[in-house]
Order: sequence, then structure tokens, then C-alpha cells
Amino acid sequence: MAYLSLKGINKIYPNGFHAVHDFNLEIERGEFIVFVGPSGCGKSTTLRMIAGLENISNGEFCIDGKRANEIGPREREIAMVFQSYALYPHMSVYDNMAFGLSLQGVDDDVIDRKVQETARILGLTDYLDRKPRALSGGQRQRVAVGRAIIRKVGIFLMDEPLSNLDAKQRVTMRSEITDIHRKVGATTIYVTHDQTEAMTMADRIVCMKDGYIQQVGTPYDLYFKPVNMFVAGFIGEPPMNFVTSEVKGGKITVGKAELDLNAVLKADTLASYEGKKMVLGFRPEGTELGEQAESFVLNADVELTELLGDNTNVYVDIDGVKSILKVDPHDTPAMDTNIKFSIPYKNVYLFDGETEFVIEEGRK
Ligand code: ATP
Repeated sequence: MAYLSLKGINKIYPNGFHAVHDFNLEIERGEFIVFVGPSGCGKSTTLRMIAGLENISNGEFCIDGKRANEIGPREREIAMVFQSYALYPHMSVYDNMAFGLSLQGVDDDVIDRKVQETARILGLTDYLDRKPRALSGGQRQRVAVGRAIIRKVGIFLMDEPLSNLDAKQRVTMRSEITDIHRKVGATTIYVTHDQTEAMTMADRIVCMKDGYIQQVGTPYDLYFKPVNMFVAGFIGEPPMNFVTSEVKGGKITVGKAELDLNAVLKADTLASYEGKKMVLGFRPEGTELGEQAESFVLNADVELTELLGDNTNVYVDIDGVKSILKVDPHDTPAMDTNIKFSIPYKNVYLFDGETEFVIEEGRK
């Protein structure tokens, strides 16, 4: 039996806005789940329903097999970390972490042991006497995390906890949170719009759009086996390139080039798409320079190159179709030149032009 179970969960706000539609998810004890999706897709609303801060319009939420819809937030044994750390500015780091336990009437020596242990896990031992204003953003964030994990609750909810940090701090905190999760083992639900956070931290990702779950799966599944164009375009940076074309004579066109889809699709599937729209998808990093075997080969004009250090983003124009390729920085082509590049068949994604679902059956 799953530890947390969300069955047919919907949220309709009092103004009639339907923010979450038929949300179904089973979460095992100790899992690290990330809700990801663009702004307004319903991530926070779902998290707040799990926290008990927002009532569930319909559907059933169970904790450990027991219906929890009507249980108040305090009784849910849940700790939450928000985007704004909400530390008490006049209290030391020690008191900020101890406060919740003091309110519960826990003995001072027990509190002291817990604060010291939590501070050690989070690398805050040297800062316990400081006030929040004398800490960096990352350190404040760690205090906020400390205040949540000190309660040893079973469920840990985090809503964009890293969004106030700079890029470097985010990378550090990302691995720290993963590390804390490993040490503490609490079931964690983490909300972000940042696909890199989702990919690097999650056991499983829940990708959402417009209040609907698009796909639930491991980071590997979402990256390599996206179910539709939305997930394919959301996961990966720079995003997957898409080219829409009508299928004619078993071929699609990219700029002036014709690609024979017999190389990647079985004959009967291909025949069923004749005259219909199909979308070719390929990831910037799924391409190779030059003419390779077992690949679609295309000509393109190099419009711009961006050296990033570990690779170069090459912005190309394929007879009017704009795309991005990711290449080894040592192979960066010169701007304003014409290049050949290859998309190995195994890196080709095809989507139904109407439904935007991936074409999986009938792939060679
Ligand atoms: P973000 O990343 O911007 O926080 P999100 O995915 O967390 O976005 P939610 O905050 O869950 O999105 O909001 C989902 C939708 O519900 C949005 O369109 C939002 O405007 C709407 N919404 C949120 N709160 C209310 C409310 N109290 N009343 C009506 N609509 C609301």
C-alpha cells in the first residue's frame, strides 16, 4: 500500500477556477517526488492540498491508507519549507530551529540535542548564535530546512525553496537537499518550475500543465521517453527542436530536405499518417556534426554560436527552420558557414501533429 495516495483530486477555487484536474498519484514511503511545470500549472495548489492548507474540492487523499481530506494541517505530521524562508529575524539560528519544539513543550535538553544534531547535518554548527540577517541566502535556506527537519516528521513538502538563491548557491543546495533526504529519509514532495532541479533531485517527476498531469516517471523516462510534445519540450535544456510537416509519399520535409520516414517507422504506421501532420523532434545534444551512418543528414546555416565551456550551442537555420545543436566546443563551426549535421535514427522523436502524443507504436 502506498504511503500517500491521491485519487481523482480536483481543486476548484471559490471563484470557479478549476486549478487541478483529476490528479492521481501513489507515493511510496521515503520517495523524493518533484512536481514540475510552468507557472500556474497547479503545482503549489496540489502541494497545499497535501499540506491541508487548501481544501480538496473532490477526490480522496490518504496518508498511510487513512483518509486525510478532513485532517487539519497540524495533525498531518507534515513539515513545509516555502520560497520565502520566513525566519524570525530577532531570533538566533538556534532559537529559530528550537522554536517549534519549545512550543510543543519538549524538554530543553532534548531540544538542545536535536538542534545540535540538525545543525551538524546542515553544516550550521558555527552559526547557531547568529541572527538571520548575518547569514547568506544559502545559510538562511538551510536554517529553514533545519527548522522543518528537526521535527522528524514523515512528510516533507518544499515549494520552490531555492528560488531566492543565486545560480551557484542553487547548485550547492540542490545536492545538500538530496543529501539531507538520504540521511533523514522523509517522504519528500518538492515543487519547482526548474527542470534541472527536477532531473537532478527526483526519484520520480510529476510533470504538469494547465492543472493536468502530463507524465509521471523517473528522470530517465521523462527525458528519453516523453509521452507528448509538452514533456519533450519542457525537459532538457536547450529544449528539443520541433519541426512540423505533412507526410507525403512517406516523407516529411525539413526546410528543403526530404526525410524518408521508412528509416524509422514501420510501413503500416507510416501509411496511416499519409497526408497528415507529423512533428519531428530532436534534442540539441542528440545531433552529430557531419554526415553519419543510420541518420537523417541535413544542411544548415550557422547563425550564432555560444561557447558554454563544456559544449557550444549552435543556432542554425535549415532553409527557414530554426534549430539549436549542441556540439563539442573544439568542433564549434564558424558563424555564417553552411554545415552538414546528422540526427541518428535512435535520437529521432516523432509526434502526432494533431494530438501531440509521441508516436511509439510502429517505431523501428
Ligand atoms: P507558480 O510556479 O507560479 O507558483 P503553480 O504551478 O504553483 O505556479 P498554482 O499556484 O498552483 O500554480 O496556481 C494554479 C492556478 O490556480 C493559477 O492559474 C492560479 O492563478 C490559480 N489560483 C491560485 N490560487 C487561487 C485562488 N485562491 N483563487 C483562484 N485561483 C487561484
